[in-house]
Amino acid sequence: MPDYGHPLRFGTFIQPSNQQPELTVARAELSEQLGYDLVTFQDHPYQPAYLDTWTLMTWVAARTDRIHIASNVLNLPLRPPAVTARAAASLDLLSAGRFDLGLGAGGFWDAIEAMGGRRLSPGQSIDALDEAIDVIRGIWAADERAPLRLDGEYYPLRGAKRGPAPAHDIPIWLGAYKPRILRLTGRKADGWLPSLAYLKPGDLQGGHQLIDEAARGAGRDPAEIRRLLNISGRFSAAGHGLLDGPPGQWVEDLLPFVLDDGVGTLIVATDDPQTMQRFAEEVMPPLREAVDRERAGRGQPAAPTRSAAALSRRRDRIDYDGLPASLAGTAVEPGDSGYARVRSTYMRGGAPGLVLRVSSVPQVVDALAFARDQAGVAMSVRSGGHGISGRSTNDGGIVIDLSALNTIEIVDEATRRVRLGPGARWMDVAAALAPHGWALSSGDYGGVGVGGLATAGGIGWLVREHGLTIDHLKSAQIVLADGTVTTASPEEKPDLYWAIRGAGANFGIVTSFEFEVDEVGDIGFAQLAFDATDTAGFFERWGAAVEAAPREVTSFVILGPPRGGQPPVAHVMVAVDSADADTVLARLQPFAEIAPLGGSDARITSYAAVMANASPDPHQGQGEPVTRAGLIRHITPEFALAIEKLMASGIVYFFQIRSAGGAVADVPSDATAFGHRDANFAVVAFGTDRARLDEAWEDMYRHFGGLYLSFETDTRTERLDDAFPAATLERLRALKHRYDPGNVFRDNFNIAPSPGLG
Ligand SMILES: Cc1cc2nc3c(=O)[nH]c(=O)nc-3n(C[C@H](O)[C@H](O)[C@H](O)COP(=O)(O)OP(=O)(O)OC[C@H]3O[C@@H](n4cnc5c(N)ncnc54)[C@H](O)[C@@H]3O)c2cc1C
Repeated sequence: MPDYGHPLRFGTFIQPSNQQPELTVARAELSEQLGYDLVTFQDHPYQPAYLDTWTLMTWVAARTDRIHIASNVLNLPLRPPAVTARAAASLDLLSAGRFDLGLGAGGFWDAIEAMGGRRLSPGQSIDALDEAIDVIRGIWAADERAPLRLDGEYYPLRGAKRGPAPAHDIPIWLGAYKPRILRLTGRKADGWLPSLAYLKPGDLQGGHQLIDEAARGAGRDPAEIRRLLNISGRFSAAGHGLLDGPPGQWVEDLLPFVLDDGVGTLIVATDDPQTMQRFAEEVMPPLREAVDRERAGRGQPAAPTRSAAALSRRRDRIDYDGLPASLAGTAVEPGDSGYARVRSTYMRGGAPGLVLRVSSVPQVVDALAFARDQAGVAMSVRSGGHGISGRSTNDGGIVIDLSALNTIEIVDEATRRVRLGPGARWMDVAAALAPHGWALSSGDYGGVGVGGLATAGGIGWLVREHGLTIDHLKSAQIVLADGTVTTASPEEKPDLYWAIRGAGANFGIVTSFEFEVDEVGDIGFAQLAFDATDTAGFFERWGAAVEAAPREVTSFVILGPPRGGQPPVAHVMVAVDSADADTVLARLQPFAEIAPLGGSDARITSYAAVMANASPDPHQGQGEPVTRAGLIRHITPEFALAIEKLMASGIVYFFQIRSAGGAVADVPSDATAFGHRDANFAVVAFGTDRARLDEAWEDMYRHFGGLYLSFETDTRTERLDDAFPAATLERLRALKHRYDPGNVFRDNFNIAPSPGLG
């Protein structure tokens, strides 16, 4: 009989007794301490002597760190599968991928009926289980856009919302004995979970045969299906029979189950701590060694780690099997349940072939080398995933995801030096700096990542007083195109230090940033809603108010299309870097007079509180974002009229202007790659129709004197001429030739390498 090559795992099977609930939980904790891989609980919801299994499993998950938790097995007739799917995914998310789902078709029908369940014949209960698996997997498939509709006889779904996706591919193991359910196991399940006590001689072998045939019939490799076995016995001095003897005998008894009967997981049913301990200390290690020895001698191939269905979703030209061992555990592929959480960005739907979630600099180096070696495969670099052009995802390519490199460290209190990982989000940075009385102006949205913003510019709530984010950068660690890890600072590679402050995406992967941050106490923050019927007049007056304001004032404005016959409403946000209420009110006064005020909210609050405005949910971007952007010095009457015309066209659903200027212009234009420092305003318009927005933009374009690439989605090369002054672009091209001659970093507004000034 077969050995499927599954890595050997051990579990415990603990009675969910509610007599001394703490004792039940303590046994689960002991399982973890003793090194078991898994703790499992039976599920008999009609049994008053037992704790409810979900509640118990959740409690155990919260009290443990490493061990997996599983139902052994869950009573389907009393647990609607759509709800079960959501409960399972929730527990998996809460436990960081430690939940596994054992499912049973049901038994004890009198008891089930007494609890309000529906009595099913054996055949019906298997059909119901078959449907339930589709329901559960369908709910977990959060990356499928369409609601879940299933025409089942037992569990029809009429457009159920999908999700959440679990944290890992939760395996579904079936507690099965009869041929039909064994065949179902082979067709659809991830594991077979019988109890040895209910098996007659030959049942295990016969069961494997039925499962394997059904698996092959469904186009699956039988080795995809893990074979688990609940066992029980006692440690005794002399051998009395199977699993009734000293530990050495247990090892001998169990070895054939693994090597000849393909069992990969042995789950010992006991509530006795001493039995748990002896098994863990005197059976598990020698059994593992014996299995390893025997398998090495036989040249036993390892079981596949991904299912045939998952493998079929792999994309062309990526050498998945060539992924170096150092990146094991970082990879998320289209067939993985975690894929839905990483495929897209905030703005753009993506379908990458491989996402590498790296968590160290050596892993960044290895991921880059791997991606570079994949000829013709796109590569994206992602920190926070808020890039508006969405270049941090792709279709069929590789994404190097830096979100786990998210540390925030105080380097030196005296000089206010902080070191940030690229994956940190600005709301977390703000929260970490607040207790020190510090802040680093970044942007207006807390979910944006450090990596993308701090390599491009950073026009934030304190920009007019404290400048761009990049103006605070003192040094950065970068992985260059050839894999070299280097530092860019005024002393080391000053030319690279110059380039990454505005054009960083073209030069490497920044793995940490060192900033000098500002002393910032509480600030005034106001949100004002204006009637913008006179759209041109409104923008002209708002622009004038901003330019007349002292630097401690920064203001952003948003306008959407008018709704349902209502006048257009402009939302103005004003940040005042002062905690003094009179000063804040005085600074707000000129803004309150620019148009009829419909509503207002003003408060003294912390910068961190203003930035705490993002949700932690995974990105759900869909399709291609469509924006156009520009930098402008003044909101002239002509430009204000152009805005009015643009908004009247109905093709823009979101129009925003951020004030810049102030301290931004204190830095010379040629000091950083971000060169258009004379602009007082950064403008962006979001539409849905690329061609129509581009056409309408022609009227706007002539007013601009530059472009902040962070808000642009038009990737035509002309945009580089807008974004960088001519001398800056020439120098960037030459530096690109030096640092990335092969143009590895080309996916985000590519500056083509060219030998030149340098
Ligand atoms: C809701 C929202 C609000 C915003 N508000 C502001 C604002 O107020 N002010 C402002 O200035 N900008 C703002 N932006 C724009 C934002 O700054 C940029 O889109 C920025 O690139 C996002 O950074 P990220 O790390 O989240 O993005 P990602 O999508 O992860 O990265 C964007 C691009 O940056 C590059 N990149 C990312 N990480 C690195 C790295 N470590 N090394 C080298 N290159 C890297 C890659 O080319 C990538 O494609 C906003 C964006 C959104 C979606």
